[in-house]
Amino acid sequence: MNIIVQKYGGTSVGTIAKIKSVADRILREKEAGLAMVVVVSAMGHTTDRLVSLARAITRKPSRREMDMLLSTGEQISIALLSLAIQERSAKAISLTGLQCGIVTDSNYSMAKIKSVRTGVIESQLAKDHVVIVAGFQGVSDGFEITTLGRGGSDTTAAALAVALRARCCEIYTDVDGVFTTDPNVVPEAKQLPYISYEEMVELAGAGAQVLHPRSVEIAMKFGVPIAVRRSDSDAPGTVVMEAAKLENAVITGVTGNKNIAKVAIRGIPDRPGVAAQIFSALGSQGINIRLIIQSIAADGLNDISVVVSREFVRQAAEVLEGQRKSLKAKEIVFHDQLAEVSIVGSGIASTPGVAARMFRALARRRINIDLISSSEVRITCVIDERRTTEAIRALHREFQLERLQRGMLRG
Ligand code: ASP
Ligand code: MG
Repeated sequence: MNIIVQKYGGTSVGTIAKIKSVADRILREKEAGLAMVVVVSAMGHTTDRLVSLARAITRKPSRREMDMLLSTGEQISIALLSLAIQERSAKAISLTGLQCGIVTDSNYSMAKIKSVRTGVIESQLAKDHVVIVAGFQGVSDGFEITTLGRGGSDTTAAALAVALRARCCEIYTDVDGVFTTDPNVVPEAKQLPYISYEEMVELAGAGAQVLHPRSVEIAMKFGVPIAVRRSDSDAPGTVVMEAAKLENAVITGVTGNKNIAKVAIRGIPDRPGVAAQIFSALGSQGINIRLIIQSIAADGLNDISVVVSREFVRQAAEVLEGQRKSLKAKEIVFHDQLAEVSIVGSGIASTPGVAARMFRALARRRINIDLISSSEVRITCVIDERRTTEAIRALHREFQLERLQRGMLRG
């Protein structure tokens, strides 16, 4: 069977008219002989609205009930899309995460997919159905409904593409593809025809909103290409694929992320086991750490700072406060008017001087760097949130990304 997995995001199914045109698009591809598995997100801002309903009741909603609530958004859109296809005299069936065998761990609100039991989907495809799957949700071993984290429908699509050995995973959205940076911030930003998995993982993790980072990690692990395309256009979009098949580019993207905060635990006696204690406590609460900085000890005392997503800052501060006494630390401070700006490119590690250029471009604009971190394909600076736009523009210009040309290697 020639299977293709498509995913349509919230804006692409935001109205009934759009759902109908998605149905037309799906049937055009099906008529070309493809077996279609289609993942959909909740319509428009449904998920946000569900979140605010819960917020109107409590500031500390239980994560289990939040997953129960948020998973309903996708169930609306799968049923409507299935009806739209049936209305066109074709066969379609909608399935929830549970029904189509997406098994996750039980970490509510950020569950990870453990396995996909493809039997149900395969038998429906064999009966010539378009299979429509609720994105962003799964079921734990204990039959609890879980969700994969905001934006997680992309990950549902990638996991299904891998499990079904689809030849491609197409992510349909309201933008043309992946850009060198957000075109709303830098109008000259260029759409990239290709980008490597590694670069995309970093861009997504560093705040580019196009793809959920886990979806790229999964596709990378199994070598399934992901195409990011506009749902109302036939343009090829951006293909995320293996770096080995792409021409080199030192920097391919710049991105900013204001959704961060820093929590510091100050004046901790410098002795073995301190970091272990702090990070076990944070880890056991399911708090993901973006960045860790331990400064040089002075007078036998250390400061350890962590950067987390803003949603976790309260929780992280509480956890650290809980550890403060036993660590004999002086105080916990937190700061949330910060942002990360990152440059991403597969040539960073092999090109001397890239970091210096980045820091110089920021220094020229008197943008102070609070923290720095880097990986093989990314350099990130934490700066004052109010300078984010300026920093992104400066870096885009510094690396001349408006002129970036990058093709596939031939042969
Ligand atoms: N509906 C969920 C969200 O808004 C999942 C998704 O759209 O991918 O985050
Ligand atoms: Mg999305």
